[in-house]
Amino acid sequence: MNIHRILLISTAFLFAPREVTGSILNRNSKLCTSSDSCWPDSPAWIQLNASVSGHLVRSLPAAAPCHDPYYDADACAIASKSWGDSIWRSNQPGGYQDTAWENGDEPCYIDQPRNVTCQQGLVPIYTVAAESVQDIREAVKFAAKYHLRTRIKGAAHEFLGRSSGEGSFGIQTIKLKGITFNDTFVPDGCDATSQATVTVGAGEHFYDLNKQCDARRVVAVTGTSNTVGAAGGWLLGGGHSSLSPLYGLGVDNVLEFKVVTSDGQVRIANECQNPDLFWALRGGGSGFAVTTSATYKTHPYITSVLGLHMVINTTSDIYPTFLKTYAMLQPTLSDKGFSGYTSSSAPTTSMDLLQYNSDGNITKANMTFAPLFDLAAKNPDKMQISTLFGIVPSYFSIFPNSTEEGGAPLIIGSRLFPRSMFESEEQSEALARFFAQNNLNTTWHLVGGGKVNEPSPSDMGLNPSWRNALHHILIADSWESDTPIPERNAKRKRLTDNVQKMAAALVPNMGSYVNEADRGEPNWQTTFWGDNYARLLDIKMKYDPTGVLTCEKCVGYDVFGS
Ligand SMILES: Cc1cc2nc3c(=O)[nH]c(=O)nc-3n(C[C@H](O)[C@H](O)[C@H](O)COP(=O)(O)OP(=O)(O)OC[C@H]3O[C@@H](n4cnc5c(N)ncnc54)[C@H](O)[C@@H]3O)c2cc1C
Repeated sequence: MNIHRILLISTAFLFAPREVTGSILNRNSKLCTSSDSCWPDSPAWIQLNASVSGHLVRSLPAAAPCHDPYYDADACAIASKSWGDSIWRSNQPGGYQDTAWENGDEPCYIDQPRNVTCQQGLVPIYTVAAESVQDIREAVKFAAKYHLRTRIKGAAHEFLGRSSGEGSFGIQTIKLKGITFNDTFVPDGCDATSQATVTVGAGEHFYDLNKQCDARRVVAVTGTSNTVGAAGGWLLGGGHSSLSPLYGLGVDNVLEFKVVTSDGQVRIANECQNPDLFWALRGGGSGFAVTTSATYKTHPYITSVLGLHMVINTTSDIYPTFLKTYAMLQPTLSDKGFSGYTSSSAPTTSMDLLQYNSDGNITKANMTFAPLFDLAAKNPDKMQISTLFGIVPSYFSIFPNSTEEGGAPLIIGSRLFPRSMFESEEQSEALARFFAQNNLNTTWHLVGGGKVNEPSPSDMGLNPSWRNALHHILIADSWESDTPIPERNAKRKRLTDNVQKMAAALVPNMGSYVNEADRGEPNWQTTFWGDNYARLLDIKMKYDPTGVLTCEKCVGYDVFGS
């Protein structure tokens, strides 16, 4: 039995019928949650369930079947076996990749005993597990009618908690599948030259999109993950990829969205229809509408990818010098066509870099890293490098698995870094010193530069800092299911403090990538959207005038709350 598909009628006891009061009439009141008297009564939920063909579920945290009062031995066995499976988590109406945003600070973890009562945490109380655009329309109309705190959930990879919320109503889009290619696509209503495209349902994962593109011998810009949603939060926030220096961000590649707006209408957003909404959906983040599909440009097949995996161990005294040397190497790496990811936490730094359409000359590629090899050669007792090069025949080859690991808590914060930072010896030294002195666990995303820097900062709702960015650098922390709440709060505060200190010390004029950012950002409007925020807010007010699709730290949160 699937614990999440409990019929409403059997759970009605949890929510005694309540009279719907002024919230329907007063559009400016706070969004309605399950603890408010405006929360819909049982007949209303039953009516909604009928209007969405029985797709309304009582959503619970993913470990619920392993705990009282929801214990179910068979479902618990499945949950235990599937716990770390990211695709399984996406499919659960109450499952999230990052348990910090599933459970909040309430218990319902897989590794806790059955008699630890499962709490709802941040999982929406009821969720429409939509199977069609019509289900989405009904769900949105219901949310608007009752002015509900509403959360849209796709592949559930969220780092800021925007797809979950205490006492909320959920709309799950993961079942909206479909990948269709078109060699002569023209955006609806436009008089434009046709292009080769792929249209992707909101519930598709990157692995399946990449697999189908590979079979078609084309490439779409996708994130470096098998299981992030291919047309959900990734795209709405910007969508970086190791292909971005070559082909731009996700938002630079999308030609058209199909969405349901807060009035329940299906709309097309492209350069010719609802162009203001199209502008906002490209980087303005969540809360403008529910995306049901997106159409991307496709690119020529990639026939050779050089991959480099390098692990560098350093003693603490040479670590800052190594980091400075590596920082100063970034413009060269970018110019030679490398992109990818570096994790650094003293004493170990690990790089996974890619060079597309490589000529396969490993010796030449190796020479790019000469400054690091020179430093190691001069300091053999303090710095060791191990390197693995490989060449694979396609973009899809770098995605060997259809799923990946999820189900752990992670908090992150970030800033975008301009190329000029890495061109300056003084600033590279400052960066290295700051990371080393503060003992930070950093991940460097070399996904900017090139095509990412070509569009004008005001071309779309995206954070303008991207147009000047070479790197997106994250700092991160996590905890265990038994970490006491005060310790978690201390970690959250330390992360926010470190992000603010990093920004002030190194990049005071740059923003943060909204999809991989700290929910604690104090000046979030400017940090996530810079000068584009005012226009984004105008568009939000036009398409979601009662703020029913608003989430925390999303456009309009300052007006509507969440
Ligand atoms: C393992 C992992 C790898 C990642 N790799 C990358 C990467 O390579 N590049 C990158 O840029 N980012 C990456 N990210 C970050 C990713 O972009 C964000 O976590 C993003 O928010 C995930 O979107 P989602 O739809 O999967 O998640 P969800 O939690 O489902 O949604 C995230 C946000 O988007 C909204 N949303 C989702 N679907 C819809 C929809 N159909 N309509 C309207 N709103 C919707 C939600 O309401 C929420 O606000 C990664 C994250 C993880 C966990």
